[in-house]
Amino acid sequence: MTTVIAGRELRFERAGRLRWHERAVPELRAPTDALVRPFLAGRCDGDTLPIHRPVSRALQAGLALGVVDPVVGRICGPVPFRGPVPIGHECVAEVVELGSEVTGLEIGQRVIVPWAVSCGTCPRCARGLTSTCDRAGGPLAAFGFGPSCGPWGGMVADTVRVPYAAHMLVPVPPGVPAERVAAASDNLADAWRAVVPALADRPGGSVLVLGGGACSIGLYAAGFAVAHGAAVVDYVDRSAARRAIAESFGARVPARPEPPDRGYDVVVEAASTAAGLRTGLRAAAPGAVCTAVGYYLATGTRVPLMHMYATDVTLHLGVSHVRALLPELLEFVRRTGFPAERVTTVTADWDDAPSAYATRTTKLVLRRDPVSTG
Ligand SMILES: [Zn+2]
Ligand SMILES: [Zn+2]
Repeated sequence: MTTVIAGRELRFERAGRLRWHERAVPELRAPTDALVRPFLAGRCDGDTLPIHRPVSRALQAGLALGVVDPVVGRICGPVPFRGPVPIGHECVAEVVELGSEVTGLEIGQRVIVPWAVSCGTCPRCARGLTSTCDRAGGPLAAFGFGPSCGPWGGMVADTVRVPYAAHMLVPVPPGVPAERVAAASDNLADAWRAVVPALADRPGGSVLVLGGGACSIGLYAAGFAVAHGAAVVDYVDRSAARRAIAESFGARVPARPEPPDRGYDVVVEAASTAAGLRTGLRAAAPGAVCTAVGYYLATGTRVPLMHMYATDVTLHLGVSHVRALLPELLEFVRRTGFPAERVTTVTADWDDAPSAYATRTTKLVLRRDPVSTG
């Protein structure tokens, strides 16, 4: 007879309601697996979509009518966000158990767990497209998105099983406070890819960030843009509190919620709206790149293609390939002390996750004491 040890996992039940659920503690299933214990968990900006608005029925209807893209059904299931589903896909964790073939990691080590599962060796992973790994399975293989995205569960859990652990788990560099990289699994890395490569190709370029939808991503992006030598960073958002954070990073923060100029070399659309997408594209300079980090669920999102043609503007959007860019991002944070924790507006006790995870705030981080001294 085997004894099943129960553990806790945070699950989304319906808009405004999350609860702890009991589940069997995960065990190693392959010699390449690891078990980790998350001790910091960030709330991804995208997780607020079903929590703060009852979108499940509307999405179900939208899928049936063909006005919501069918890929939403493949990722979230035919009834999107029907609870209870495990939630949470940003964490810093400590390693508690390693499969026999996992090299390069130690028990107690502090690691970032990327939101998407990847193997590290398939052709897609080799190209840096780790969030669309060939071997991970499904339309997306990820933590905290429910059963359509695999058996991985959420990261707000006692214990998490991580496959391909030697590749997946990226150690927090020595000297970097874990709180600083609480969102490195997803939102911090998403901001990095939206700004840093585009600015590297356009040194000293000007940057516009439309914030307020993907709340934390926009702020991280503004901070990264300033830290990477942008000539100007304009951060646009209706929230005075978020404008203050952006300003503290060195961005300009016009009071009116619209771009004060035209002709930005790099645009980050983090308002997460179709209108934001159009505003961002029309504010872009010839040869600019606009990266959109939100969810644009509709099949009929209007995009000003003729304007883009005339100005040679590139629209970039897609899942962020966090695992591929984590080494560069973490080394930057280690070297510069980039204060990403400034974006965290609420740090809550782990035990309070059910109420805290529903808080209307820019960036929530859950915290409990690590077991090891790190
Ligand atoms: Zn996310
Ligand atoms: Zn792969």
